Amino acid sequence: MKNIVLIILDGLGDRPCQELENRTPLQAAYHPNMNYMASKGINGLMSPISVGIRSGSDTSHMSLLGYDPEKYYPGRGPFEALGLGMDIKPGDLAFRANFATSENGLVKDRRAGREFAGNDKLAEAVSIDMGDYSFRVRAGVEHRAALVISGPYLSDKVGDSDPHKENLPAREIEAMDQNAIKTSEVLNKYLKEARRILENHPVNTGRVKAGKLPGNELLIRSAGKVPDIPSFEEKYGFKGACAVGIPWLKGLCRLLGMHVEEVEGATGTVGSNYSGKIKSALSLSEKYPFVLVNIKATDVAGHDGNPILKKQVIEDADSSFNLFRQASGRLVVAVTGDHSTPCTVKDHSGDPVPVMIFSDGILHDGVSFFDEFHSASGPLRITSNDVMNILLELSDRAEKVGS
Ligand code: ZN
Ligand code: ZN
Repeated sequence: MKNIVLIILDGLGDRPCQELENRTPLQAAYHPNMNYMASKGINGLMSPISVGIRSGSDTSHMSLLGYDPEKYYPGRGPFEALGLGMDIKPGDLAFRANFATSENGLVKDRRAGREFAGNDKLAEAVSIDMGDYSFRVRAGVEHRAALVISGPYLSDKVGDSDPHKENLPAREIEAMDQNAIKTSEVLNKYLKEARRILENHPVNTGRVKAGKLPGNELLIRSAGKVPDIPSFEEKYGFKGACAVGIPWLKGLCRLLGMHVEEVEGATGTVGSNYSGKIKSALSLSEKYPFVLVNIKATDVAGHDGNPILKKQVIEDADSSFNLFRQASGRLVVAVTGDHSTPCTVKDHSGDPVPVMIFSDGILHDGVSFFDEFHSASGPLRITSNDVMNILLELSDRAEKVGS
């Protein structure tokens, strides 16, 4: 049996860019190690989630790990909480939240002047237990925050307290079905208590004195309940680990019970420590049968519409991929993206992404360049949901179907 390393260059796929003489960043980049691996491996195109779907990074990573987002995606609220480094577990209910300013029962500013000084203290003050329920709030940038509730019989079929417009009162949380009535009651009681705590909090009295808007109202929206999701080990029968920088992705891996390696300088953006990630993936792969790596900067460059930067990120990442050459006897290494982020679109598109799988002793297909055009002459036409199955099979870990 071999061990598996799955490398996701976030938003890798692209379209022809004028600045690169109508080549894609991956086509224009000098990436001899990726080309070597492609020439010894199986190549093709991978559609994230399904053909033509414009997928988010969260849903796509779930699917790449073999968790159907249709069944397991918990919604924006839980991912906001994961992004702020909060731990969530199956059964928890999470919301996106804002510290807002209310006056005489009306929301005057949904963002409390985008003020953030002291919001961490406000979040701490409204992180409380009430009966069987525990409420945890974490502050993010500016007015943003997330709320996570743990307790029995929680339902996400509840509305927002956020009126989404100024000069309206904060809404009572409404239950959308019978099973959500208890949850709406618990939330309304909590929000009332939160209002009381925030009104008299020294951070807010200090803000008012300084002529600033107080964050005296916690507005919540986008309820999502964390589904009963099997851990990575329950699902596959072996342990997984990750070397990633993006906070929500670390949170997703923790939710799946994977080991999260803290790589020094792994920032989840441009200038991250790519070679540190690859080195730590290699050493993790001696202990863990599966390792996930994410390099985010390709997506950041795509959103910025900067093909020169995206090309540079690919070249920087490639320079440490030579380490895989010696490991091909004990590893199956896959390289792909979680979606395309074309520089001309500055957002995710539904274009397929090149994929290559490299190891000793597997078929190779004559493809010797890794990019959107050459990879397309390889045999793979797969979706993200197929990736784990192929990796299990090539690493001799797949169970036989039938006899
Ligand atoms: Zn992504
Ligand atoms: Zn993106």
